[in-house]
Amino acid sequence: MIATLWTNARIVTADGSIDRAPEAGALEVLTQGGRIVAVGPGLARDGHRIVDCGGRLLTPAPVDCHSHIIFGGDRANEFEMRLVGVPYTQIAQAGGGIKASMRATRAMSVEALVAASLPRLDHLLAEGVCTIEVKSGYGLSVAAELTMLRAARALGHARQVRVCTTWLAAHALPPEYDARPEAYIAEVAIAGLEAAHAEGLVDAVDSFCEGIAFTPAQLAPLYDRARALGLPVKIHAEQLSHLGGTAFAARYGALSADHLEHATTGDAQAMAASGTVAVLLPGAFYALRETVLPPVAAFRAAGVPMALATDCNPGTSPLTSILLAMNMGATLFRLTVAECLLAITAHAARALGLQDEVGRIAPGLAADMVLWDAETPAQLVARIGFNPLHARIFQGEVVA
Ligand SMILES: [Zn+2]
Repeated sequence: MIATLWTNARIVTADGSIDRAPEAGALEVLTQGGRIVAVGPGLARDGHRIVDCGGRLLTPAPVDCHSHIIFGGDRANEFEMRLVGVPYTQIAQAGGGIKASMRATRAMSVEALVAASLPRLDHLLAEGVCTIEVKSGYGLSVAAELTMLRAARALGHARQVRVCTTWLAAHALPPEYDARPEAYIAEVAIAGLEAAHAEGLVDAVDSFCEGIAFTPAQLAPLYDRARALGLPVKIHAEQLSHLGGTAFAARYGALSADHLEHATTGDAQAMAASGTVAVLLPGAFYALRETVLPPVAAFRAAGVPMALATDCNPGTSPLTSILLAMNMGATLFRLTVAECLLAITAHAARALGLQDEVGRIAPGLAADMVLWDAETPAQLVARIGFNPLHARIFQGEVVA
C-alpha cells in the first residue's frame, strides 16, 4: 500500500501546546492505510506519493463533539417568540422546545430523518469536520429513540464521516409521562438503552440535568445502568441553573459535562479529578442571549480541558458551523486562539473518548486532517462567516 507524504505545509499538530504557527515545511506528515505513520522534519521520500500543500495550514480535522443534528421539523417560530421576550422556560412549558421537535421527529422514518439531517451534516463537512457526535433525544419513546440512532448510524454510511452515537432519552419528559419522571427513566430511558445497546447503537449515554428536565437523583438509576453496561456517560449540566449535575456526572467518570454556564469552581475541581472535559456551547449561549459566562478561568486553573461544539439543534443552537463555534468561543468566552483550536480537535476528541483515534496529527491516529487557505490558526478563528477550507482529508484521502 502506497504511503503519502504531505509536504510544504504549516502543520499544527494539536499534540501538546500550540505556541505559534510553524513555518511551511518545518514538519511533514506521512500517512498510509488511512493512518498517520510519522510526523517530523525531513521524512524519507522514496516510493511515496508526494502532496505539495503549497504552504497552507494543515490541522487535525475538526471534531463536533456535541450535536443534535437529527430532528424533525423546524422551530423558527420559537425564535420569533423569543425576539419579543418570551423566555425559553415558558416556551418549553407551553409545549414548545424539545416537545415540539418530539412531535415532528416521532412522525418520521429513519430514511426521512436522514434526508432531513444530511444538509446540516454537509454544512459541517464543508468546514472539514471528520467526526461528529449525534444524540438521540427527540423521540422520547423507546421506538422513536431507536429510530433516531439508526438514522445517526445511517449518516455515517451516507457520507465519509465518523459518527459517534449518544443515547439521550433523558432529554425531556414526554406528555404521556407527565409528573412521572421516575417511570419514564425506568420504562423508556433505561429499557430503551438496553435495547439500543443490544443493537449496537450506543457509544455513550447523556442526559439533560436541569429544572425543566431531570434531577441527579432521578438520573442515578440510568447512570448506574450505563456503568453496568460498560458505556461512558456525559451530561448537559448547569446551563440554566446550578442543579449539581456536573459533580454527579463526575462521580461516574463522565467523558464530558456540557454547557456549564452556572458551574462553580468546585465543579471544575471535580471535573479535573474525574478527567471530565468541559464542553462549552457558545451557540446556545448566543441564541438564548445568556449573560452568565462559563467559569473559564476556573477550568484553566484546575486544568480541565475545554472543548467547543455546535450543539446543532432546532431551537436553542441552530448552528452548523464549527468555525463560528470557535469564533464565538473566543469572542464570547474569551478563549485564546490556541484554546479554540484545541477545543475543536484534541479536546473534542477526548470528550468522545477518541483521544487516541482522532483530534491530533500524531503517529497511530486516523489521518483525518484539513488543509486551509490560511497561514495561522488565528486566521481560522478571527473571521465570521468565512470558510477557508482547501481540502478535507478523511482517513488519508482528500474527499469532496
Ligand atoms: Zn445539547
